[in-house]
Amino acid sequence: AGHKYDYDLVIIGCGVGGHGAALHAVESGLRVAIIEGHDIGGTCVNRGCVPSKALLAASGRVRELQNTMHLKSMGIQVGSVSFERQPIADHATNLASTIQNNLKRSLEAIGVDILIGSGKLTGPHTIKYNLPGRVDVGGEVTARDIIIATGSVPFVPPGIPIDGKTVFTSDHALKLEWVPNWVAIIGSGYIGLEFSDVYTALGSEVTFIEAMESLMPGFDKEIAKLAQRILINPRKIDYHTGVLATKVTPGVPGVKPVLVELTDFKTKQVVDTLEVDAVLVATGRAPFTQGLNLAAVGAETDRRGFIPVNEKMQVLGKDGKVVPHVYCIGDANGKYMLAHAASAQGISAVENMCGRPHELNHLSVPAACFTHPEVSFVGLTEEAAREAATAGGFGSQVAVVKTSFKANSKALAEKEGEGMAKMIYRKDTGEILGVHIFGLHAADLIHEASNAVATRQTVNDIKFNVHAHPTLSEVLDELFKGAHVKAGKPA
Ligand code: FAD
Repeated sequence: AGHKYDYDLVIIGCGVGGHGAALHAVESGLRVAIIEGHDIGGTCVNRGCVPSKALLAASGRVRELQNTMHLKSMGIQVGSVSFERQPIADHATNLASTIQNNLKRSLEAIGVDILIGSGKLTGPHTIKYNLPGRVDVGGEVTARDIIIATGSVPFVPPGIPIDGKTVFTSDHALKLEWVPNWVAIIGSGYIGLEFSDVYTALGSEVTFIEAMESLMPGFDKEIAKLAQRILINPRKIDYHTGVLATKVTPGVPGVKPVLVELTDFKTKQVVDTLEVDAVLVATGRAPFTQGLNLAAVGAETDRRGFIPVNEKMQVLGKDGKVVPHVYCIGDANGKYMLAHAASAQGISAVENMCGRPHELNHLSVPAACFTHPEVSFVGLTEEAAREAATAGGFGSQVAVVKTSFKANSKALAEKEGEGMAKMIYRKDTGEILGVHIFGLHAADLIHEASNAVATRQTVNDIKFNVHAHPTLSEVLDELFKGAHVKAGKPA
């Protein structure tokens, strides 16, 4: 009573982005409802980060125990190692539902109303929600502010029919319904790489099909090269680069192979046809923004379906101007398609609607690939940093410092010396432009660097920080101490 709107904030989509926004909004004193049409937790919890990390944990142990040479060198003998597929699959499913429940309870505990249904804008402050075929579910609510957090779905290139059995996306692969003898993985980004780690540990052969000239195109070139030497070459993995999978004909599991026609990326000539047991399509993610009726607030998606936003996460209308009170966060805006970026953007959007202007520095957001060993980075690749520096007129100031995990006592004690870290920085100001790590626990190690970038600390600010010995974190200590900065402080 006495309120102009049903809620201060209504969030459409309860993935990690929507969930993070809801928690922060309640903390800021807002009355919040969240609309979810499918599973609470969204992609990350049900079809992404969480189940994939469960599969990687189990298959990683299998790989470790099968590496008898490695164990023998520490005096350990293991008998034959075997595994059962179904309990590994169950571990992933059970973990997803545990975390889904935790998320649901955390929202209920602080009084967030969870409205079941698919949400759609009907005006600048009104949202309708319903479930098709369910007259008992649905309604219309009003809100002062609205956050769109509808996430993404697997992107499947044309010519590739998904049957969910022999030709599938990560949505199906995470269920681990079978372990094919030979899997072709289309795309060598982080999702494809993580699945190659799982499949090869469980005994599959993998063939990567990558459109770009080299594997891992999104990563720093030097790191990708080293990763290839450790993660690809010694394993039962081969690859075709510079080719597109232009036609895929599904098969029958264990009976009829899948046919994959490969076309040269440049000449557009068909160059090969592979016969494999299964194909995993890991060619990226497409925004899930259909049916939102953005026209009700004067907005529309871009060509690829992403919702345009500014640095404050405010939706931009067709006229390019801010649509008041409407925000979009997470995979749906395409700015940085990772779980922690989605929730950080959610927090940022709430800060802005509460009158505390906030802009997330996306260059400080870390990224990781959870292979064994892991890859992580923050900021720019060396190639991108050099380009940006040339454009910005400080090309001569870019410097790179590197260190090997072989120089780290803890890594050597663990017999995990295969790895490197590199930092790209400015010699004149000490500004950190990018940090890249390949090696044991790289995903955990990156945060000292990303926090430094987020708080605008220079190399000189952090180079005398003390790290416990012996720890993997000394890898970063080596980088910071190895950097040579001219000025004590930036201008
Ligand atoms: P989503 O998580 O996609 O959630 C959106 C939600 O909105 C969904 O629940 C959907 O049902 C709901 N929804 C959509 N439309 C409507 C509507 N109209 N009305 C109501 N509800 C609606 N990221 C990492 O950071 N680390 C990882 O290790 C990692 N691993 C991954 C592994 C895989 C295999 C995949 C596929 C992704 C992975 N990601 C990882 C990416 C991560 O999952 C996404 O970046 C993240 O889930 C995006 O969060 P979101 O809140 O924007 O959207």
